Amino acid sequence: MKIIYTDVLVVGGGLAGLRVATGVQERGHRTIVLSLVPPKRSHSAAAQGGMQASLGNCAMGWGDNEDIHFEDTVKGSDWGADQQVVRMFVNTAPKAIRELTHYGVPWNRVRKGKHEAIINAQKVLIEERDEAHGLITARDFGGTKKWRTCYTSDGTGHSMLYAMDNKAHEDRVMIHERMEAMALIHKDGRCYGVVARNLMDGEIVAYVAKATTIATGGYGRIYAVTTNAIICQGTGQALALESGVATLGNMEAVQFHPTAIVPVGILTTEGCRGDGGVLRDVDGYRFMPDYEPEKKELASRDVVSRRMIEHIRKGKGVPSRYGDHLWLDITILGREHIEKNLREVKDICENFLGIDPAEEWIPVRPTQHYSMGGIRTKHTGESQTMKGLYACGEAACWDLHGFNRLGGNSVSETVVSGMLVAEYISDFCDSPQSSIDISTAVVEAFIRAEKEKIHRLLTHEGGEDAYVLRREMESIMMEKVGIFRNGNDLQEAVERLERLLVRSRNITVSRSKSYAANPALVIAYRTQKMIKVALTVAYGALLRTESRGAHAREDYPMRDDVNWLKRTITSWPDPERTLPTVTYEPIEISHMELPPGFRGYGKKNIIENRQSAIQQAKIDAIRNELLKHGADRFEIQNALMPYEHLLPEKYRGRNERLYERFDDEKAKQ
Ligand SMILES: Cc1cc2nc3c(=O)[nH]c(=O)nc-3n(C[C@H](O)[C@H](O)[C@H](O)COP(=O)(O)OP(=O)(O)OC[C@H]3O[C@@H](n4cnc5c(N)ncnc54)[C@H](O)[C@@H]3O)c2cc1C
Repeated sequence: MKIIYTDVLVVGGGLAGLRVATGVQERGHRTIVLSLVPPKRSHSAAAQGGMQASLGNCAMGWGDNEDIHFEDTVKGSDWGADQQVVRMFVNTAPKAIRELTHYGVPWNRVRKGKHEAIINAQKVLIEERDEAHGLITARDFGGTKKWRTCYTSDGTGHSMLYAMDNKAHEDRVMIHERMEAMALIHKDGRCYGVVARNLMDGEIVAYVAKATTIATGGYGRIYAVTTNAIICQGTGQALALESGVATLGNMEAVQFHPTAIVPVGILTTEGCRGDGGVLRDVDGYRFMPDYEPEKKELASRDVVSRRMIEHIRKGKGVPSRYGDHLWLDITILGREHIEKNLREVKDICENFLGIDPAEEWIPVRPTQHYSMGGIRTKHTGESQTMKGLYACGEAACWDLHGFNRLGGNSVSETVVSGMLVAEYISDFCDSPQSSIDISTAVVEAFIRAEKEKIHRLLTHEGGEDAYVLRREMESIMMEKVGIFRNGNDLQEAVERLERLLVRSRNITVSRSKSYAANPALVIAYRTQKMIKVALTVAYGALLRTESRGAHAREDYPMRDDVNWLKRTITSWPDPERTLPTVTYEPIEISHMELPPGFRGYGKKNIIENRQSAIQQAKIDAIRNELLKHGADRFEIQNALMPYEHLLPEKYRGRNERLYERFDDEKAKQ
């Protein structure tokens, strides 16, 4: 049996995995990355619109800083996020974007002088400052007070991933592509690596490591229609779940993006609306200002998606043989802008719809897009319940996004969390606690168990067809666990998924009996994992009797800060059971810098917690007192909710901007 030893194992070669890998490798730890595909083909390459970082270079971003980014992110999360993690993130994002520039990402830049933009469907002239000329610019995105989303036209993820992958090669990170992690190797609550399968020749091997990181992205493919790549199947979350020890957080928090094209579900970026595109109904009427007069098409994603479905339900959708849809109109941006800044959108429209978006409206409908839930971690990225196991990027519930992620905060999270988690992993590997204390006999038992599963799938006859189970799971999730949810549908979804899980224990691979390069086998063993992940989503959604962020219950329309200010924690300790175990982790108002309030969309629909007002009064008193003594924003922030001590020392420095310079030594670090 083959056992490969390394210091650090990273499962996932997307932005998050590669950034962790380069960080630990640079700290002197031998690192191997496993990926289903060559890393440059990871789903991160699909990110179009941009990356949030409060640089404040362009005129419409002027005055931006970490405090505003913090507030936008917490409100966006509907107060589900861990506010200390949000602080760590907003402070590091400007550093991450500059680092990426150094790695070669060709960010769009500010050009001094006047230029035209479309805001609220009107042409306006914006004047950029001379001193900002050549600095990284930003575009508008949903749910943000400033233009903060930095971009490379609409190929941001592509350029970030290519730069990151090149950097990993430069750093001599070992990349084992077409290797699929199948199970965690663990003993006594400590993770020692994974069992992996070579997708080409079928060989099953063990990777044993001091630290293991899961950076496998989201679980969008449990839904029938999604903007996610076909490899986003939640197998990373399933690895944690099947260990019976590691836990998942907020799995029911699933985001739908307003503008995926109909019928295939490929995304047209939020940058379309950020740059001035509008949504129209069957009559060509621009309806969003009626629902959200202030932010209109640029309200938070969960809000726009719900408004679109509401409007369709009122009979204002455009009938088509693929169901009703609405229109995204970017014709008003003009051909030159589209061909320069939205060229991937143009390609997608031409290739998948046969239309020219500079001339015609794009048929769109809200579609599954992002997984806020994932492997629950501490602020260090380490699992709360399994030592030596780390997670970051979309695979994790770190928890930056709470119940709704803001556009542009995800690719930003991948690199920021990658930077930070790499430091914590390196510290762990430098400590005596990281020594590998597992016998080869135990490792071999894990390998044998996976081999037996594969053997059974290939030799067992007359069982279930994985494709059938999979299609049924996808349609249950789409129809019963979608944008709007209710108790009856969720109950039905859970019961049907439980039945599918039982049937999945009897899957047979009948199409091809090959152990090597066999897609039918791959579908067969992933299906049960996906059904388990689907069950954590559906069951978590059934139990959460409130509406928060992207989790909208029609039978419980209010956000309930009295009973539901808590994270859903899921594990699967008993493999024989058909339901996961669910517990809750409280989110303490008394620890918050920004106590729960009104997000500012629609009508105020909250069961308020008295503690929120008490905490707000406490915060106001501290702030007023410090202001009297001339405290600056950093001193005030530190008094309200210290977080700097949680950051690795090298990332603690302040961020300078054109309008905010520091002359103390700390700022220059
Ligand atoms: C169409 C689209 C556009 C988007 N645009 C934006 C945007 O403009 N801005 C923004 O902030 N966010 C955007 N997002 C979200 C963002 O792209 C993702 O959240 C982010 O890129 C995820 O990166 P990741 O590194 O966590 O995972 P991924 O990039 O998904 O990488 C996962 C990696 O894990 C590997 N893997 C998976 N399972 C296994 C396994 N079992 N064994 C071994 N390897 C495995 C895969 O091969 C892959 O290398 C967009 C998402 C979509 C769908």
